[in-house]
Amino acid sequence: MDTQQKIEKLRKLIEIHSYKYYVEDNPELQDWEYDKLFKELKELEEQNPSLITPDSPTQRVGGISEKFNQVPHKVRLYSLDNSNNNDELRQWYNRVLKDVGEVQSNQLSLLGNNFSDIELVSELKIDGLAVSLIYENGIFKQGLTRGDGIIGEDITNNLKTVKSIPLKLFEPVNIEVRGEIYMPITSFDKLNEQQIKNNQKTFANPRNAAAGTIRQLDPKVTSSRDLSIFVYGVILDKNSKILSHSDAMDYCKKLGFKTNSYRICKNIDDVIKFCEEMSEYRKALNYATDGVVIKVNSYAKQNELGFTSRAPKWATAFKFPPEEVWSKLINVEFSIGRTGIVTPVAIVEPVNLSGSVVQRASMYNFDEIERLNISLYDEVLIKKAAEIIPKVVKARKTDDSINLILPNNCPCCNTPLIDIEGEVAKYCPNKNGCKAQIKGRIEYFVSKPAMDIDGFGESIIEQLVEKSYVYYPSDLYKLTYDMLLTLDLIKEKSASNLLNAIEQSKNVLLSKFINALGIRLVGKESSDILAQNYKTIDELKLAKYEDLSGIDGIGDKMAKSIVDYFADDKNVAMIDEMISLGVNITNKYSGILDLRLKGQSFVITGTLESMSREEAQAKLKELGAKTPSSVSKNTTFVVVGENPGSKATKAQELGVTILNEEDLLKIINGDK
Ligand code: NAD
Repeated sequence: MDTQQKIEKLRKLIEIHSYKYYVEDNPELQDWEYDKLFKELKELEEQNPSLITPDSPTQRVGGISEKFNQVPHKVRLYSLDNSNNNDELRQWYNRVLKDVGEVQSNQLSLLGNNFSDIELVSELKIDGLAVSLIYENGIFKQGLTRGDGIIGEDITNNLKTVKSIPLKLFEPVNIEVRGEIYMPITSFDKLNEQQIKNNQKTFANPRNAAAGTIRQLDPKVTSSRDLSIFVYGVILDKNSKILSHSDAMDYCKKLGFKTNSYRICKNIDDVIKFCEEMSEYRKALNYATDGVVIKVNSYAKQNELGFTSRAPKWATAFKFPPEEVWSKLINVEFSIGRTGIVTPVAIVEPVNLSGSVVQRASMYNFDEIERLNISLYDEVLIKKAAEIIPKVVKARKTDDSINLILPNNCPCCNTPLIDIEGEVAKYCPNKNGCKAQIKGRIEYFVSKPAMDIDGFGESIIEQLVEKSYVYYPSDLYKLTYDMLLTLDLIKEKSASNLLNAIEQSKNVLLSKFINALGIRLVGKESSDILAQNYKTIDELKLAKYEDLSGIDGIGDKMAKSIVDYFADDKNVAMIDEMISLGVNITNKYSGILDLRLKGQSFVITGTLESMSREEAQAKLKELGAKTPSSVSKNTTFVVVGENPGSKATKAQELGVTILNEEDLLKIINGDK
């Protein structure tokens, strides 16, 4: 295929997907996949400028549907060019400096910090759709979509139903503003729930939901759904006294528009810092953002810089790295955890996800493989989950796809796998003979939230188990210097460091000790609750199912698992052995137990001034409270710090009592 044919093929493909995205609000591709096609076309055209045509997607923006009246924009609406990483941001900034004559091109290589800077404004890029709002004498007259940038669709009646769009401004001015219509994430989730209930198609993301809602023919439908706006631009007449974007935003706010906060950046290093901060901060927001928009602040300089055929040269959009990415499934490993649970792990061709290279992703359990219909050599969509481990969320077939054979026997010890009633996972029942489980238990035992024995990495544990030095965790306390010296890469110094670490771990808190035992379903949090309710390990050994299941935060299944664990003589003998080998267990809760917040639950959102969120949670837990991560109608209080996330809104919606930091401190100190 020659270059011209390649270009034409790309244009066709991009046009099809633009139509689906902009006109039908029903995209088939992920944004990054579309962006990749777009970038490829742009690069080919840059290398072959004679092949650029005015109708190429690189020269135009958006699309228009026939459904609405079409109205020409008085001033064109543009798209934004992207910067996908810090290098591209710097290249854009250097071009800006060069074009406004602050720096001669031969000086660019000398550009270090603050050599010559231009003030920039950075603000979040809201992932919604652009609209233009026209006011006469302060009264909202007309609202248009961006359309193709030259002609927009008249959606005035729908926009009138958006409560954050003022119908009357605080001053009787003639003005046109531009902004982004979006749907809050909580409202998007609710809308999709409703769509499922009504057997209707769900929306792919909040942007599509917002676009689909604002472009409804019946304003009643629009008004029944929750939309909002951030205004990010304004068309001012030539004689205006407002000379910069930041002043214009302040003015819009004064007129009654909803604007988002911005940061003035002295140079590109400040911008990069802002982008880094925002890539974390945005995760707590109740609206979708796909990047940061950086604009030259001075209007005079913006005019000097001007536009390309589709975007201003005085602005760029830094795109956050994708949180989802497709890759090819090349193998599946079945890993056996310390409790015998089998977890299928996808091995994929290495891909970049949220800034790190991913080669492995969780597939949870066998049911999930069936539910997602995953075959070997499929393309799989990998998503960064709330936890750090990415997971497979979708699969699509390729020409190479072949059936995935799920094992019936444990891949480590060949014991037939079993199902446990009420659980979706498969288990290897050979708990005392399966080396994968033995290693898993030792790894868990030495880990930080458990006995916290420093220096015992995977390879040392592997050797200890293979050499049969360690079978039960208690065997760690019987290791000798000479035994350790027989391990690969262990010399005198590291052997004595390991022995020291073992010795130090002997003084342990009851909560950590319980956690270290690795009782099925009992984790760090529940170990803490058990230590609050039982003074010693001996008391816990004798605990009855009825007592355990009655404890807030323990539950029936966990209670049964605890009783089963202590009913096994081998486990009891191992604990006794550890104690005889010098393990000394103390309980920080005994004697000082103050459980005045028992039965209450606190969700903390935003940043606290006097302590970190984790510290506040630890204090509340010591007082018997629970600190779940999400708000429900059973939450007692939501504590709201600086820059709270969507949890604050959810608390309001559910009518949960909201506290500030001062209230929280009073409760912790017993003053309230
Ligand atoms: P864009 O979304 O990348 O950037 C321009 C838009 O950013 C503006 O029109 C404005 O609406 C918006 N914006 C948000 N916050 C802003 C702020 N603070 N200041 C200024 N503008 C702000 O460009 P685009 O031309 O609208 O669309 C390209 C995007 O659409 C890409 O992300 C692309 O992946 C996606 N797309 C996807 C498909 C698909 O099939 N998945 C198809 C077409 C387009």
